[in-house]
Amino acid sequence: MQEVEVDAIPLARLETLLAPDRVDRLRMYAARARELLAGRVVWNVNATAQGGGVAEMLQALLAYARGAHTDTRWLTLNADPAFFAITKRLHNQLHGAPGDGGDLGDAERVVYEKVLAENLESLRSRVRAGDIVLLHDPQTAGLVDGIRRSGAYAVWRCHIGRDTPHPLADRAWDFLRDYVEPADAVIFSRAQYPPAWVSRDRLWVIPPSLDPFTAKNVGMEPAVAQVTLQRAGLVATGAVDGSLRFTRRDGSDGFVREHYGLLREGGSIPGTGQVVLQVSRWDRLKDMQGVMIGFVEHLDELPETAHLLLAGPDVSGVTDDPEGAAVLAECLHAWRDLPAPARSRVHLACLPMDDIDENAYLVNALQRHASVVVQKSLVEGFGLTVTEPMWKGRPVVASAVGGIQDQIEDGVSGLLLPDPNDHGSFGREVSKVLHDAELSARLGTAAHSRVQDRFLGDRHLIQYVDLFETLIG
Ligand code: UDP
Repeated sequence: MQEVEVDAIPLARLETLLAPDRVDRLRMYAARARELLAGRVVWNVNATAQGGGVAEMLQALLAYARGAHTDTRWLTLNADPAFFAITKRLHNQLHGAPGDGGDLGDAERVVYEKVLAENLESLRSRVRAGDIVLLHDPQTAGLVDGIRRSGAYAVWRCHIGRDTPHPLADRAWDFLRDYVEPADAVIFSRAQYPPAWVSRDRLWVIPPSLDPFTAKNVGMEPAVAQVTLQRAGLVATGAVDGSLRFTRRDGSDGFVREHYGLLREGGSIPGTGQVVLQVSRWDRLKDMQGVMIGFVEHLDELPETAHLLLAGPDVSGVTDDPEGAAVLAECLHAWRDLPAPARSRVHLACLPMDDIDENAYLVNALQRHASVVVQKSLVEGFGLTVTEPMWKGRPVVASAVGGIQDQIEDGVSGLLLPDPNDHGSFGREVSKVLHDAELSARLGTAAHSRVQDRFLGDRHLIQYVDLFETLIG
């Protein structure tokens, strides 16, 4: 296993954004956490240190937990492509999607358990009795029993799920059930997600949160967002003078490199273009292709300056997402098949992953620069790609699926698409926002307040302390 270094961030930083009663509550809970956790370590285990919502959230939340003087640490699994092929299958099927269509039988169990047995050895050399181990997502479920045998508490947190049952999801849950059932507690992002066999007295519903101070979310003037995207080559320009500095998670300075964004197709967006943006992993459930179709089918209704940008991670390196490259290839293929006039309005970008802070800063600039952010997911566990632009006061048009429904109140803090497969309503809603500056501003302002009220770290940390209290208090 690899330990991921996380620097401590004082809670005082978060407190600058909170009303006095929220500050008091947070401080009280932090004091209680220090008492409860004295002499214990809270471990978090997941599949990857970068890419996707779980890594994003752990990075921010653990920094505050450490800032509150609780010994909180992060480990990532050592695993091979065969293991990730199986866990991606689980991920897809839990969402009700067939994925690669492969089995989840005895042969898959052998591969899954072998990798986790190796990881357990490394985990056992670090974890002591009385520690708390938070295991994230299906990749880690098989560690529950081993952790409990070593006298530590095992909490399994599942960041994905479906609002309604599905035979494929049942199949994936059958695979996971024996691993999950002994857990001391199980956490889901929504009350609708747990299967019926998860005992209600050990069930916790805790939605994710966002950190406003990371490179991904830190305040940025519109002009800075624009030149950042110009330097990265995503928006067209002449030369950009001067250095574009940002703060890394370790507090040091970073500088945006020239032509950092890898534009795979479509060239730079004109400087005057209104950007419709979807940022996602290259995953079929995010429906990047559907976004392209919905946009192109409604070009006549959209302003002439409207351009679509589909941005996702560079998938050429080693990744825990074995389908990323294939899904990107499908999108590139669909783009090439577009009629020329439509093609000139659609852009596909891969954002390099070699420098995760720079990547985050670029996503920040994109989300701030966009006239409307969309998330046309077919299913969605929570959707930090919705929370992030909402925090930035951008109008968001997104599918009414999974955790997106907990974030956006339709017509108030964004627009919801009742049927994610209905390209017609997608095009109409995007067009509505692009044509109506007053609506766009109103949705954006309400979106920011919604995140401020419900999806910041204080609420999240407090829920964890409540859980720890129940386990060991
Ligand atoms: N993300 C990113 N670069 C990319 C694509 C995604 O930094 O090229 C981030 C995105 O900003 C968000 C996270 O990955 O913080 C995705 O989380 P979400 O909950 O939306 O979905 P998940 O990927 O976990 O299914």
